[in-house]
Amino acid sequence: MSIQVENLTKAYGQQKAVDSISFSANNGRIMGFLGPNGAGKSTTMKILSCFIPQTSGKALVNGFDVLTNPVEAKRQVGYLPEHNPLYIEMYVKEYLNFIAELHQTPNKVQRIKEVIDLVGLGVEQNKKIAQLSKGYRQRVGIAQAILNDPPVLIMDEPTSGLDPNQLVDIRQLIRDLGKDKTIVFSTHIMQEVEAVCDDVVIINKGTLVENDSLQNIFSRH
Ligand code: ADP
Ligand code: ADP
Repeated sequence: MSIQVENLTKAYGQQKAVDSISFSANNGRIMGFLGPNGAGKSTTMKILSCFIPQTSGKALVNGFDVLTNPVEAKRQVGYLPEHNPLYIEMYVKEYLNFIAELHQTPNKVQRIKEVIDLVGLGVEQNKKIAQLSKGYRQRVGIAQAILNDPPVLIMDEPTSGLDPNQLVDIRQLIRDLGKDKTIVFSTHIMQEVEAVCDDVVIINKGTLVENDSLQNIFSRH
């Protein structure tokens, strides 16, 4: 199992944003993390990506504990935040080069070419990020997340706000990436889960309310 979460809790003061949730996610499958705004999705994604520590409970990424072994745990994960703070005054290649330097990506030049192809940046690769549409900015964010070819991808609302054409393409891109990775895909829209995911965890007010394969859920309802 690539992600194992047990009784994970995050409190902000008295308020529990995430309240003792447990689930696991496996390689080659896409896990939809579904819940309304404020449910605790981003908080969970940030814990799994080692950006914030949990209050209690356990989270392992490829066997590495996010609290006790954050350096190794972080290496397992590519994280696409909901609001990706791209440096919009940079050119696409300049930005990816900067990220590759930061993450000490091996065979940097070659790998940047590969990810630009993989995410379908096309002629947009020669532009400034500021000139790109939302969909192409999202592709830059995905390129950034997969630069070091991590086995786990954590994507926070990756399809929100996309126009219909970009939506179809980026869903397909995520499905392709999911063939040999573990992906956690957060969204507040059930249709996104149906279109992209194999499994689903549903949370509401920080509490887990469902955890099953889509196949099982549809055969029960
Ligand atoms: P979602 O991603 O599902 O919209 P979040 O994880 O962003 O939910 O937020 C869950 C709850 O935790 C919300 O009530 C939110 O206001 C609260 N919250 C999130 N981050 C913080 C923070 N840094 N400080 C205090 N409360 C927070
Ligand atoms: P993100 O896409 O990273 O979840 P948000 O717009 O939800 O960004 O939140 C921006 C920042 O504010 C995050 O660091 C989040 O943890 C924090 N935050 C969210 N809700 C609250 C809250 N109720 N009180 C304090 N900080 C919050």
